[in-house]
Amino acid sequence: MYILVINGGSSSLKYQLFDMDTRKVLAKGLCERIGKGGRMRHNAVGRNKLEFDIDIPDHTFAVRLVVKKLTDPQYGVLKDMSQIGAVGHRVLHGGQWFSESVVIDDDVIAAIERCIPLGPLHNPANLMGIRACATVMPGVPQVAVFDTAFHQSMPKSSYIYAIPYKYYEKYAIRRYGFHGTSHRYVSGRLAEIMGVKPEDFNCIVCHLGNGSSLCAVRGGKCFDTSMGLTPLDGVEMGTRSGALDPAVVSTLCARLGKDASYVVDQILNKESGLLGVSGISSDFRDVNAAADEGNERAILARDILVHTIRHYIGAYAAEMGRVDAIAFTAGIGENNAALRENVTDTLGFMGVKIDKVKNLNPDREEELEITAPGATVRTFIIATNEELMIALDTERLIKA
Ligand code: ADP
Repeated sequence: MYILVINGGSSSLKYQLFDMDTRKVLAKGLCERIGKGGRMRHNAVGRNKLEFDIDIPDHTFAVRLVVKKLTDPQYGVLKDMSQIGAVGHRVLHGGQWFSESVVIDDDVIAAIERCIPLGPLHNPANLMGIRACATVMPGVPQVAVFDTAFHQSMPKSSYIYAIPYKYYEKYAIRRYGFHGTSHRYVSGRLAEIMGVKPEDFNCIVCHLGNGSSLCAVRGGKCFDTSMGLTPLDGVEMGTRSGALDPAVVSTLCARLGKDASYVVDQILNKESGLLGVSGISSDFRDVNAAADEGNERAILARDILVHTIRHYIGAYAAEMGRVDAIAFTAGIGENNAALRENVTDTLGFMGVKIDKVKNLNPDREEELEITAPGATVRTFIIATNEELMIALDTERLIKA
């Protein structure tokens, strides 16, 4: 079966086509600047890469373009559209309605719409992708895979904020958590690699990219996670502050004469994190290079990142009472050996010790154990693969 995985953004649409017999990607690409001009990148196995400007007025046009390229005699890999057995969509927010992936029907669409206040930027864009596929590929089953779903297993003590309970009851204000598909994939791979049953296994997954979150997984289920009501909470990120005293917001509002939405949406979400502290870049590679050259603010931004990651690892170890493994994943977690070494440097007290040579991962392995002899907690680098997880969920639900 061939499955198309779609990640719809407000002005972009990313896609990957999987052959589920081999679990390999046959083609992938991106339509961007939708509604504001348009550009497409398409790359299929054994074909020349394509990149060109084209007017893309809306998401339906983008999906038509994707199907056209996938079935193109020169650049495509399919004979015709009917070979696409199903479409899997990444959806940001499933609120409290979805604790797992679902086949999309009218009720599911209505529920994703009800979650728009919780994911105002992403959920409308995800819906545009879903509706566009329904228009272009009528009759092809579609599945929604939610970033929040894996975290629905958290106990109340992990997800209820200590504010008046009526706001949870009235407005569903609580911790939701994000990157759930990545945390589920990586924790599942860890259990497979270690040859243990997920239900007997506790781990901490450090998803460190532009957006970063940590997840405590107990018995194969999410027990706690660092992102909250929105993806602003938790560790320092590229442009996001991570956790701070909420009185910072009211103090900045008073000092700047701005309202809370400006401070939160603009300053804390877009101007903070690595960028805000270093004044250099939101990209960890740039901050790291500047720090290595002795730039003090870059060193501070990097130190804060290490500090906040350790902070959550320590908290999750204490909450779960036992940790069998730690995994590093996503852009920074998979690629930066120095960060992994710095983070784990102080964790010897809880049985974490890494092999500094293996940690360099010279062969750039996608999955690598970096545990040192004598450690009681095993440490791994695991390349995340949210798209494969979406394709696997889609296949499973369609076959059922
Ligand atoms: P997202 O999916 O959240 O946009 P990614 O998982 O792609 O983000 O991670 C992006 C981050 O990973 C950036 O900060 C980037 O600097 C960092 N990154 C990517 N490659 C490397 C590398 N080789 N060394 C260090 N950091 C890297």
